[in-house]
Amino acid sequence: MIKRRLGKTELTVSSIGFGGIPIQRAQPDQAVAIIDQMIEEGMNFIDTAIGYTVSESYIGNALKGDKRDQFILATKSPAKDYEGMKADIEKSLKALQTDYIDLYQCHLVKSREQYEQIMGENGAYKAMLEAKDSGKIGHIGITAHSAEFLMEVLEEMPFETIQFPYNLVERQGEKLFERAKALDLGIIIMKPMAGGAIENGSLSLRFILENPNISVVIPGMETPELVKKNAAVGHDFKPLTEAEQAEIEVFKNQMGNQFCRRCGYCLPCIQGIDIPTQFIMEGYLTRYGLGSWAKERYAGQAINASACIKCGVCEPKCPYDLPIRAMLERVQHNFAKG
Ligand code: SF4
Ligand code: SF4
Repeated sequence: MIKRRLGKTELTVSSIGFGGIPIQRAQPDQAVAIIDQMIEEGMNFIDTAIGYTVSESYIGNALKGDKRDQFILATKSPAKDYEGMKADIEKSLKALQTDYIDLYQCHLVKSREQYEQIMGENGAYKAMLEAKDSGKIGHIGITAHSAEFLMEVLEEMPFETIQFPYNLVERQGEKLFERAKALDLGIIIMKPMAGGAIENGSLSLRFILENPNISVVIPGMETPELVKKNAAVGHDFKPLTEAEQAEIEVFKNQMGNQFCRRCGYCLPCIQGIDIPTQFIMEGYLTRYGLGSWAKERYAGQAINASACIKCGVCEPKCPYDLPIRAMLERVQHNFAKG
């Protein structure tokens, strides 16, 4: 397995890591088989999140005994305040059945306003630093979907890693990765299959790893077979041929531009709808096969796509010219037929 350096953390990670979303739909004993397969393949990086329901506890259970020390364990919390982050770090430690998490990340930070809250006097970062000082976590990172936001805070932020989407059709992070690499940040790639839109997973993983700025890519995997298949890319890395590059361009053009990049420019919606989140939920419903989880989360929002009054205020703000009104109608339709 090809290994890469995770920036200034000085951790050495397998180029193919493990993303913890799909394991939610596996059986608990399946998690043990997945971890065993990862060990066999020489994979050592696991990323999960406190918000992925059973993911942390399945992984914790599967890592019991002497397996924990064979992995670099990363997880994350969306808490922005001190108390919330402090509590979440303890919950993660408990669920993961460990006394040490290698990398703890601020999850899905969307704006400077949220960033300032995290870094403020009673912000989440203070709790993370305390946890680091007491040896509960090793390193601190951040995850985001907006390249513009991360670019804005990149130079001033104290985080050691960034986690950002990147794949054949979502390349908005390429300049960000260049700058992050120059700052010696570790670069973790989420959504390598564009939320399931890309079927040729190996091709997408090779495309991502061809970028020398990337430290590790974390496809979601819910079976040992999938671990084996994805790991093969990291065992025997083959650069893309000209024919494959052409295939990628064709695919990119076929996909077109009609999918949300989660940049958040369309916000705020006058009805208070978190527009990109509606499309993320829809992806979980229609592409990840996490129907009941997605439905629960969709229904649990105070305001969802059904609140759209089609005023159209958001659409001129979308840099990708997405027909947001029609897309939100599609979201409603998909959740209604479930
Ligand atoms: S069209 Fe719908 S989503 Fe867009 S701003 Fe108006 S209410 Fe919000
Ligand atoms: S709908 Fe457009 S502006 Fe809004 S988050 Fe998605 S890509 Fe960005």
